[in-house]
Order: sequence, then C-alpha cells, then structure tokens
Amino acid sequence: MREYGCPEKELFSFLAARREKDLGYRNILSSMCTTPHPIAAKAHAMFLETNLGDPGLFPGTASLEEMLVSRLGTLMHHTGAGGYATSGGTESNLQALRIAKKHKPASSPNVVVPASSHFSFEKACDILGLEMRTVPLDANFRMDTEALDGMIDRNTICLVGVVGTTEYGMVDPIERLSEVAEDREIFLHVDAAFGGMVVPFLERPIPFDFRLPGVDSISVDPHKMGMSTIPAGCLLVREPKVFNALNIDTPYLTVRQECTLAGTRPGASVASALAVLEYLGMNGMRAVVAGCMENQRRLIEGMETLGYPRAVTPDVNVATFVCDRAPPGWRVSRTRFGHMRIVCMPHVHRDVVEAFLSDMGEIDAG
Ligand SMILES: *Cc1c(COP(=O)(O)O)cnc(C)c1O
Repeated sequence: MREYGCPEKELFSFLAARREKDLGYRNILSSMCTTPHPIAAKAHAMFLETNLGDPGLFPGTASLEEMLVSRLGTLMHHTGAGGYATSGGTESNLQALRIAKKHKPASSPNVVVPASSHFSFEKACDILGLEMRTVPLDANFRMDTEALDGMIDRNTICLVGVVGTTEYGMVDPIERLSEVAEDREIFLHVDAAFGGMVVPFLERPIPFDFRLPGVDSISVDPHKMGMSTIPAGCLLVREPKVFNALNIDTPYLTVRQECTLAGTRPGASVASALAVLEYLGMNGMRAVVAGCMENQRRLIEGMETLGYPRAVTPDVNVATFVCDRAPPGWRVSRTRFGHMRIVCMPHVHRDVVEAFLSDMGEIDAG
C-alpha cells in the first residue's frame, strides 16, 4: 500500500482510465451476462452497505431475499419452495451437491451429469470428493438418457440435468430424469442457471421445474437473463428443511445458524434482482425473452444465408454455427467442438445482429 493516500481526483482518473480498457457490451456476443436493467442499477445503489450474512441487522433487506425466493419458487411452480440468494450458478450447484451428499451416505459417492454440464460441477466434485460420471449427449446435444442406466448405481447421490446448456442452449429431458430419479430414489438437481429465467417465459415452455415430482432442487441466476447486477444467483429446493443438513452454529451473529456457503453476503444485488422481477412482471419478462428469441431467429437465418449453418436448433437464446471465422471487433466464443457460439442476450438488439451479419458478409467478400 501507499504510505500516503492518493488524492481523489487522481485516483478517479486512474480508475476511469482502467475502466476504459473494458469492452462495452455492445460488441460482446459471447457472454451470458448483460448490462443490468436501469431499475437493477438504481435498486443496487440503495443497498450498498447491506449484509445478508447478518440478517437480523438488515430485516428489510432480508425480507427482499425471502420475496426473491418466493417469486422464483412460484415461477418454478412451487409456492412453498425453500432457498436463498447465492453468488451465482457455481455456488448453487455446489450447495445442491452438498445437500444431496448429506442425505445419502455412500462409501464412494458419485454424481451423474450430462457431458454438457457447466464446469462448476468439476469444482464442486473436487471440493466434495465426489466422482463425476458424464453421460454422453445425443445428436442434439441433450443428455442421452438411453445411456443413463448403466451409469447410476447405489453410490449415486445425485443426478443432474441442465436447462439451457452453457455451450449449445439445450434443455435436457428433465421429465425423463424426474422419472428415473423417482424410480431409483435419487436426488435430482436441475441446473437452470441460464434457462431458468428463459424457459418459463417462452411461448411454449418446456417442463423442467417442481411440477415434475422428481425434481429436488433448481439453480437459477438472476444475474444472467434476470438482468440484475452481479452477483445474484438463487438455489431453490422443494423441501426447505433439506437446508438443515447444512446448518452450522454462528455464535456471534443475529441468527444462531446459517446454511449458506458465504458468510458476508451482498444485499444490493439481491434487491436489484427482485426489483427487476417486480418492475417487469411476467408480461415484461415474456417480452424480453421473446425479443431475444426473435433476434436469434434472425441471426440464424442471416448466418445460414451467408453459408454458415446452425450446429443445432437451440431451445434457448444460445446460437451455435459451423463457422471458423469471426469479423474483427466482435467477441464471439467457441464451443469445445469448435462451433461459433453467440448468446443472444438482451443487449444484442436487432441492430446489433444486423451489424454483425453485415460484417460477417464482408469477411466472405474479402
Ligand atoms: C452460468 C452457468 C453456471 C455458473 O454460474 P456462475 O454464476 O458463473 O457461477 C452454471 N451452470 C450453468 C448452466 C450456467 O449457464
């Protein structure tokens, strides 16, 4: 550290210069995050100093977290869902596996996930000492449930399905997974970190939530399609009491026990996540999602006209193409199979899609 503090003016011109080096979202087509909704930013600013790690000191903010859980639980068709606001999908997935592990003692526990699962499961399995078994995908990049049978055994503590895969935007056959989970009495965790804020707002929603009797827990991230500030994730569970298995004593806080992973937790991003849901309502969210899906349809059509076919028809707003180039100035990403990947987030407006397509067309000409 400096011996004497830096004058404010100098400090902020330094910070502004560094901030300038960041890319604006305008040309970022590779991210599942987006510019926060203006309502999210406004709400965030009101709650800067709040700490949900000590909720007795911030009962107002804590009640907003309860509302967020209740709103998202209801969206997932279970008004009595338990849950809490996490730092994102990674923490939600880790905590879901912790719950599953506590509930089924096994000598060498394993978790069965699709090959498309997010890398957070690798971290969680490493931390929790779980063997990760990977189920192959079908031709449409969804979990091939035919291959599932041989992979589950009595040491399987959890089965995982994904709603809106990070790379290809696919929804696993959760209905089938729910049957398997019920049949074999296995905890079923649904990773809807991305798709949880998309699928319920589609014209034809694909069933994946607590309406399916085998589903025990769901991850859903407001800081992706929920347009909140970062960090805002949510872990939802069918039975609130499953969190008891994670409770530890917290002697000097206003609550006696906590089941969360983090101690100190931001209230600001949680208030922001709730504010967006309240402000937009179902109708507003449907409009946002419809816009993203419509822009994606245009992107796919435009790319195919240029001779770059889609890798698959996605269930949510993640488009992939057989295309090994990209125009300068744009951030796209590559899947592990080398496909070009574009996430049609709310900041990817129609004019952005048109500008991208036009630049794609020019590389071809050149
Ligand atoms: C983004 C994502 C995650 C990880 O979430 P973070 O918020 O980055 O921790 C996990 N699973 C899926 C399906 C995701 O899309």
